[in-house]
Amino acid sequence: MRLTFLGATDTVTGSRYLVESGNTRLLVDCGMYQGVKVLRERNWKKMPELERLDAVVLTHAHLDHSGYLPRLARLGIDCPVYCSSGTAALCAVLLPDAAYLQEEDARYANKHGFSRHSPAEPLYDREDAQRVLANLQPLALHSTQRIGDLTIQLSPVGHILGACAVHIDDGNTRLVFSGDVGRQQDELMYPPEPLPRADALVVESTYGDRLHEPCDVSALLEEIILMTTGRGGSVLIPAFAVGRAQLLLLHLARLKQAGRIPSVPVFLNSPMAISATEIYQRFHRELRISSADCALIDKATRYVRSVEESIALTQNPYPSVIISASGMASGGRVLHHMKSLLGDTRNSMVFVGYQAVGTRGQAIVGGAPQVKIHGQYYPVRAQVHDLGALSAHGDYEDILTWLEKTGQPPQQVFVTHGERQAADAMRVQLRDRLGWSARVPELRERVDL
Ligand SMILES: [Zn+2]
Repeated sequence: MRLTFLGATDTVTGSRYLVESGNTRLLVDCGMYQGVKVLRERNWKKMPELERLDAVVLTHAHLDHSGYLPRLARLGIDCPVYCSSGTAALCAVLLPDAAYLQEEDARYANKHGFSRHSPAEPLYDREDAQRVLANLQPLALHSTQRIGDLTIQLSPVGHILGACAVHIDDGNTRLVFSGDVGRQQDELMYPPEPLPRADALVVESTYGDRLHEPCDVSALLEEIILMTTGRGGSVLIPAFAVGRAQLLLLHLARLKQAGRIPSVPVFLNSPMAISATEIYQRFHRELRISSADCALIDKATRYVRSVEESIALTQNPYPSVIISASGMASGGRVLHHMKSLLGDTRNSMVFVGYQAVGTRGQAIVGGAPQVKIHGQYYPVRAQVHDLGALSAHGDYEDILTWLEKTGQPPQQVFVTHGERQAADAMRVQLRDRLGWSARVPELRERVDL
């Protein structure tokens, strides 16, 4: 087997790995680069390695693992895409939305006259996304699928609905990709399933150099909501539409049921997060929630779908809890709420996940006195809270605890999906704690296994 690292080598986005055996060519993950411009530019680079593929297999639905798929379709690369059923259901919502945003970007560039092409073209459009969705082939967990000389298998790793490690076997060697690995303790997700055996392993390192501070999230939310609504304010929570929004809804529904917070309305104002919540409820048997929990969430939540309802909500003067996307306040409906709520000291703004460099979320958490939204500056007077402990990624202790249970140590270990410092810290942890010799590979590096 030969493995080529085509993304996520020096950063946390753009996951793409080519696995070859004989004539078989399999791509593991087909992620989009996100974040700073120099990384986003990579989405436009030619990738001759991807011109002939027998199949793609996805670890999970997040766009940094799936968002380049419609680009392949646009380039005429057509092949089956294997993934778990949960991943397929989430991709059906995420990929058309990503395509719509690409179309919007191209329209904006044309209107304002800056573009690499003339006229500006989207990276892909909604038709490309639909072509990919028609190629999705859901696989049952632990079932095996033959692709040419290779056999693949999926096992759950927590993180978000449908997220799996991908096991690839050529009859001699077993190569495992961790994908994004979830927490050992999570209200919504089961802990990652131990790996039975891996001769070679590719492991993520998003939090390779950090630990999540232990905290009681329910108690913190309770305290913030009581304090804020007590002074007549509202609580605004920017949240990632898939995963974090559902975990928050679960916490809030349980707090309401237990009478620990007053009966202020809880609004979920994000069409994407509402669709994801419906999918989470449909797949609740794969999660740590019962159908009664799903009903509890519906009872406790007001879903805001239309633009008109969303505008009306920004003018609502009464205390409420509003969950809205995007999670780093980089776009979406949350910006409208920020404009109306940030300037009032009675309100609170709560951040619940990783805030990337250069985002409004990072600026506010870092104490910025004002932020620019839609071309205007708004003062930050609301109280700001950072609940990073709600992350969907395990920290390095979570990952070590998971890997410790592996049947036998892999002979080769590659650390990816982390900023350089985090990836190297993970490599050192694997060496010192588990005695595994690991390497941080370079972009486009090829290794024979
Ligand atoms: Zn992910």
